[in-house]
Amino acid sequence: MKPAAFAYAKARSLDHAIELLGRHDGQARVLAGGQSLIATLNMRLDAPDLLVDINHIAGLDSIARRNGHVEIGALVRHAAAERSDVIARAVPLIARAMPHIGHPAIRNRGTVGGSIALADPAAELPACLVALNGEVEIAGAQGRRAVKADNFFTGLFDTALGSGDVLTAVRLPAATPASRVGFAEFSRRHGDYALVGLAASATAEGKNLRDVRLAYFGVGATPVRARKAEAALADAGLDAAVAALAADLAPADDVQASAAVKRQLAGVLIRRVAAQLMEPLV
Ligand code: FAD
Repeated sequence: MKPAAFAYAKARSLDHAIELLGRHDGQARVLAGGQSLIATLNMRLDAPDLLVDINHIAGLDSIARRNGHVEIGALVRHAAAERSDVIARAVPLIARAMPHIGHPAIRNRGTVGGSIALADPAAELPACLVALNGEVEIAGAQGRRAVKADNFFTGLFDTALGSGDVLTAVRLPAATPASRVGFAEFSRRHGDYALVGLAASATAEGKNLRDVRLAYFGVGATPVRARKAEAALADAGLDAAVAALAADLAPADDVQASAAVKRQLAGVLIRRVAAQLMEPLV
């Protein structure tokens, strides 16, 4: 199928992009890597008047470590994040998740900002952002603001971004020697969206873990924090954490798997990820 007709504009700057989006009253879309947007248009799931191409805006494609955080620009391609030494050292959870996103051709074009803005409930990066307690940097007509990951994903493919906003970067805490992370997912084939996945972070304290954050994906409309299992993993052990998932997760049947299968897989994943959380980062 072909998309409905649309106009195209190459934004010269962030201000220009925001002005173009504002002029079209909810009928313009940001074009980043196009890996999801163009498919959506071709299937006529969306028919905007205008695409605002942000690929030529300077300064949105950098990866920088400053003040205990790593800032990943919205236009950083998945492949660039996958190869980044800064990300490998300072946000290893992102490095572990990257190879699971689609295939090399998709990772060459798809962007970190596009993945977060799209907010696919089965996607890896939104869950990593939640697991790491990161923030999203947003620029819009009212200026700039930062939104915590826990407040950013508001529903199915829905976020705190307004129709005139541009996501400019994500900000993630840089790992310390006590940081621990874990990542695992089940998908039908490597590179497919996950049936169920889990991104996790914690802080080691002797042989114990504190500040455990478990963000499941593929089990709800948004990344889902398993808060009872987080507490159990810190205080009561792995078996208690697995049992706590029954109260934390309420997956629905979907075309990929039944709710019962998803629950079973979620329990397997927490065991795999808990083993990773016990290992120091290298
Ligand atoms: P686009 O397609 O350009 O945009 C996506 C949406 O986000 C649009 O609504 C757009 O307006 C909005 N948007 C983009 N950037 C911004 C911004 N800076 N500010 C505001 N709004 C913005 N993803 C996974 O996570 N896991 C997978 O396993 C996976 N498998 C895939 C397999 C295939 C075959 C394909 C085609 C894609 C797959 N993807 C997967 C999606 C891929 O990761 C995309 O790159 C990503 O979802 C969107 O990034 P993009 O840069 O291409 O965004």
